[in-house]
Amino acid sequence: MSHPKEERTLVIIKPDGVQRSLIGEIICRYERAGLKLVSLKMVIPDEQIATNHYMVGGEEWLENVGKKATEAYARKGEKPPFATHRENGLAVLKSCSTYLSAGPVIPMVWEGNQAVGVVRKITGSTEPLSSDVGTIRGDFTVDSYKIADMAQRAVRNLIHASGSVEEAEKEIAIWFKENEIVSYRHLQEAILYDVNLDGIIE
Ligand code: ADP
Ligand code: MG
Repeated sequence: MSHPKEERTLVIIKPDGVQRSLIGEIICRYERAGLKLVSLKMVIPDEQIATNHYMVGGEEWLENVGKKATEAYARKGEKPPFATHRENGLAVLKSCSTYLSAGPVIPMVWEGNQAVGVVRKITGSTEPLSSDVGTIRGDFTVDSYKIADMAQRAVRNLIHASGSVEEAEKEIAIWFKENEIVSYRHLQEAILYDVNLDGIIE
């Protein structure tokens, strides 16, 4: 088993993040937490790649996302557009793929101790309106399920972040070739992870 500090996660700055000029700000949040950037690029994804990306979670993701959508409608006292979680999930999938492929995005791979969970914590919950203050989604945008549903579009929340280690592995393979991920030693790793803090005092 690999050490927890070698965990990797995929982050994508979505088209709204790029258009809001938040690339530097977003990278800064993960960087200053002590995570290590091991790859990044700028691409304009086509809708097929965007769909493949969301479908790595498979049927389980479709069900969950459809369930979340149904709950959001219920909070407004409304019924969702379709009868089953899966069908509502498929509608979210379509709007997500349209959103992700709307312009340039920045896919990145971040590495570090429990990187998946750390990145999710810094990113904040799915709906920016209810994301905590101090998270990227909570601090830099205002979108809600309510106005997204009114326009029948995806919630614009600046960032994609993998939901689990398994999801991260599959998603990274969609956006990066193995040889595009850089292996290197970052000097701060000694401070973060080494047993002794040797070599500081002269
Ligand atoms: P997260 O990005 O927080 O992991 P999900 O994986 O559940 O969230 O959903 C993927 C993306 O789909 C979200 O980031 C958001 O842009 C969009 N989305 C999810 N649920 C809804 C919904 N009910 N209505 C509109 N857009 C949604
Ligand atoms: Mg997700």
